This record gives sequence, C-alpha cells and structure tokens, in this order.
Amino acid sequence: MAPVESLSRPTLKILFAASEAVPLIKTGGLGDVSGSLPLALHRLGHDVRLVMPAYADAIARVSDAEPLGTLPVPRAPGPVRLLEGTLDDGMVPVYLVDAPGLFDRGGNPYVGPDGRDWPDNALRFGTLCRVASEIALGHSSLGWQPELVHANDWQTGLIAPFLADLAGRPATLFTIHNLSYQGLFDRPTFDAIGLPPHWWSPRGVEFYNHLSFIKGGINLSDIVTTVSPTYAAEIRQPQLGYGLHGLLDHRADRLYGILNGIDYDLWDPATDPAIPRNFSADRYRDKGPNKGRLQQVFGLDERPNALLFGHVGRLVEQKGIDLILAALPRLMAQPEVQLVILGSGSAALEERVRAVSAQYPGRVGTRLGYDEPLSHLVEAGSDVFLMPSRFEPCGLNQLYSLRYGTVPIVHRTGGLADTVVDATPDALAAGIATGFCFEPATAEALWSAIARALALWRQPGVAWEKLAATGMRQDFSWATSARRYEELYQIAIRHALAAAG
Ligand code: ADP
Repeated sequence: MAPVESLSRPTLKILFAASEAVPLIKTGGLGDVSGSLPLALHRLGHDVRLVMPAYADAIARVSDAEPLGTLPVPRAPGPVRLLEGTLDDGMVPVYLVDAPGLFDRGGNPYVGPDGRDWPDNALRFGTLCRVASEIALGHSSLGWQPELVHANDWQTGLIAPFLADLAGRPATLFTIHNLSYQGLFDRPTFDAIGLPPHWWSPRGVEFYNHLSFIKGGINLSDIVTTVSPTYAAEIRQPQLGYGLHGLLDHRADRLYGILNGIDYDLWDPATDPAIPRNFSADRYRDKGPNKGRLQQVFGLDERPNALLFGHVGRLVEQKGIDLILAALPRLMAQPEVQLVILGSGSAALEERVRAVSAQYPGRVGTRLGYDEPLSHLVEAGSDVFLMPSRFEPCGLNQLYSLRYGTVPIVHRTGGLADTVVDATPDALAAGIATGFCFEPATAEALWSAIARALALWRQPGVAWEKLAATGMRQDFSWATSARRYEELYQIAIRHALAAAG
C-alpha cells in the first residue's frame, strides 16, 4: 500500500530506537508507542525504520527475519549480528540487534526471574546504543543512513553521546517516557562501555559520580521531548525532576511535550476481537454484554446493573494501587459497586491485591499477571476506570478507557491532566466532560472523585451515558501527534546542521 499524504511533503529517513515495541515485545506504554508511532510516521510518508534488541520473543514474532551481517561492537560478548524483518505487513523495516549472550534469554527485557534488574543491563543496552549509532552513521551494510535518530528512554540514552562529536552524524531527538527510570551505573561501567572519555562530565553522562544513560540523551540530543505538555513542565520542578530538573530547565528551549496517541486499529471497540460484543458511541448499549463476560472471568456476581470499576497496570508505587486499596472499604460500602484489578509488579503489592479478592468474594476480582487480551476485556466491560497514578508521563489506559466508554477517574497529573476533562457542573452542562479528576494523590481525594461518579451514575436519565459517549468521541489517534514529531524532526535537523557549523 502506498503511504498516504506523501505528495509535497519532505520524506525524512528516521531511525527509531527502542527497547520494546508492539507486537514484538511489550512491558508498558513504551512498547505501545514504539509499535504505533513508526507506523503513523510511515503513513505521513516518511522512511522510518526501527532498531531494537533481538530478544527471543521478538525474533519469534518477526516472521521474515533475515541476517544482514555482523557489526564490529567492541566489548560485546561475541559477534553482534543485525537481523532485518518488517512490521505492519511490511510497512516498517525492523533491525534486531542479535547478540545472543545479551538478549537471548527468557522473561522480561529488563529484569530476571527474581524481579531484579539483569546485572549486565549496561552492557546490553550500551550495545543497543552502539549498534544504533553505527547504523546512524551509515556504517552498516544497509546502504542506508537516517537523517534523524529518534531514541526513547534510558535504554537508548547513549546514542546521542556516541554520535555528538562526529562529523556527518544525523540529528538526534530523545523522548523521555518516564524520568524515574534513569539507567544509573558505576564509573567502571562507563570505562567499559567505550564512550569518549570526556563525556565523564556533568555536560555528558556523569550524574553524581554515576553513569546516567538518560542524562546522556537529555544533555546531548538536538531535541528532547516527553509525552505530555504537563509532564514536560512537571519534570522541570524538583518534585518530579529526579535530580535532573535543573538540567531540563536549562534545556527548556529544546524541551517539548507531545501527547502520545493510541493505535485506533488495535484499540477499537467496534472491531476489537478480544471482546464478546463490539460497540461504539452510537451503539453504547452494546457495551453491556462485555460486563457480563468480565464478571464471569473474574468470578464476580453476574449483575447487569452493577457499577463495575476496573484497573489495569503495573503494580508499582507510581500507579497508586495502594490508594485504591485504601479507598476500598468505602467503595465496598456502596451496594452496587464491583471492582476488577489486572496487574503484575512488586511482590508486596501483588500480595495485598491478592488478599482483597478473598475479602470481598463476588465483588472484587483480581488477576495477577500480564494478559493483553484480558486488558481489552477490562476496558470494554468496566463502567469506570481507576487511574490514581502519583505521576503519569502520559498514560495510555485512560485513553483506552475513553475510547471504550469507560469513564476514567484520574489524579490530575501529567498526561492524565491533559487528556481527561473533569465532570464539573459547568463541563457537564457544556457537554465537554469526559471523566473525573482529583488532587492531591490521597485516598481521601480519590474517594471524593469516586463519590461524584457514584452520584452521576445514580442520576436517572442519560447523564452517565452522555459522559461516556463524549469520551468515546475524543480523538487521541496519532494523527495530530505524529505531525508534531514531524515538525520537531525538522527543527532537530536544523539544530544539527547549525552545530556542525
Ligand atoms: P506504563 O508505561 O507506565 O506502564 P501506560 O499507561 O503508559 O503505563 O501503559 C501501560 C500499558 O501496559 C497499557 O497498554 C496497559 O494496558 C498495559 N498493561 C499494564 N499492565 C498490564 C497487565 N497486567 N496486563 C495487560 N496489559 C497491561
């Protein structure tokens, strides 16, 4: 299929570097974005190619992977091969960095079976950065050199430092998906990774006597972005800046916030194959049977009139699951309320979540683990989605919830603040409300938002349905955001040219 909108637009050659991408591997929102943004850019007419590690799962899912040859990567254990395949029916080429000693292992890309970071993460992702830099310089056997490298999160943070000094380098853009994960290692690790020695400095990758992958990306990229305008402002403040707020503030003229889009093909209630009954804003009532299936799957009492709350997410402090648990007694005091939780994460939080389904049989259902199809059913079958994240760079689940007519209740922070319009009386009257926002991040404030939701749900008439349908009609596709990236790529290229003199 020919890319649309390619006429009269400059076609850019873009290398997109990430540590995970749907449908090859996903642990969170980064995987969703790395799967869907390259495709959106392709549709705008750009030549965008993805580079990521050749995890065993990723190789298995790229059906047409072909070896391209080896690359010289000093310090890697054994030869590093590139495998070439494609995603999205051949529209997006993908290069898998095949270093079996580093990536051919089961489980999670970042942590081992014991839940701890893989001890060689610096070497693993340092190698990813090294290989991406070689491709960026046109040194691979691809016969292709990008004009811009778009790197994502700390695992790709050293690409800009590898490139910054070199003549003929492409422009670099670095996106922060979550500043709290930084990739910090000791000084011997810096020595082992093979960066130019002068980058051991606060102007390079040094951060309080540590090597910081993310600081390298922030300091040395032509442009830095993060995934919502509010988070772009928040990370310049001490509270959410994780020690990097001064640097981010210093680079404010190069820092932009662009909201993530979502893949409207994968997340479409009208066509989603993972749910028993498809529906849309015009067929909102067809959402009902999905609640029945969700109640069955989670062992809840099958009550069509229950008000079903859902939550999906990593069980980590950031996501505020403890706030939900703290509000639970009051929630369960409401006779019509039920709750389902799907998540995996810290052992302590998993234990607390497991305990509550035993406490409220038939009313609270929990599933510990990672289950993509089930996450679609939770979105489709719930009436309300709880997202009390303490901070949230963008957040995707509230966007999926809006699309699925599941009214989000969110802490007013980061991308949650940018995407959910609080149901104040004025916003409801104007027909622009899409959910409920609260602050600060306490169980008390969460409860008062839940109480407002309950009051609206209990109102006779169609107030609730109207609120849900307004959310369903919002446009959070990639159309707008991919164009913003396109503009920033041009700006980054201008900066890179100016830097080259
Ligand atoms: P983060 O990247 O911080 O985890 P996001 O809201 O940006 O948060 O993205 C999380 C993504 O991961 C969403 O697509 C969500 O549905 C998915 N997800 C998280 N936990 C699970 C789980 N246990 N099962 C299925 N999908 C999950």
